[in-house]
Amino acid sequence: MTENHLDVLISVPSEVEAAAIVGMLSEEGIEAKATGGLTAGFKAEAPGEVNVLVAAADAERAKLVLGQFEKPTIEAREANGIIFFDCDACGEQVSFPGSARGTIEACPECSEWLDVPEG
Ligand SMILES: [Zn+2]
Repeated sequence: MTENHLDVLISVPSEVEAAAIVGMLSEEGIEAKATGGLTAGFKAEAPGEVNVLVAAADAERAKLVLGQFEKPTIEAREANGIIFFDCDACGEQVSFPGSARGTIEACPECSEWLDVPEG
């Protein structure tokens, strides 16, 4: 048994978000884990919330990493008129200006024709 104290870094509404944050923290060398939802060993105290835990010693650095992550979300970029989605043919994430919504464009990666989603 280790003596590491774990701090709740952030609570997010979905495991997908929690997993994204855990993955990003681990890329920065910070060990994190998500609790709640399907994670074994914990009963979620607030159903629908997933806590991301980090060692107390890493909490300050983790908050800095998190700050960088929260700014350029895909939603924020789409609000600026750029639409992001995955190409059906090659699976790459592609982007088009918002004016291309609902049109057919050539994939910049594989040149297949794409239906650009309405949003
Ligand atoms: Zn493609």
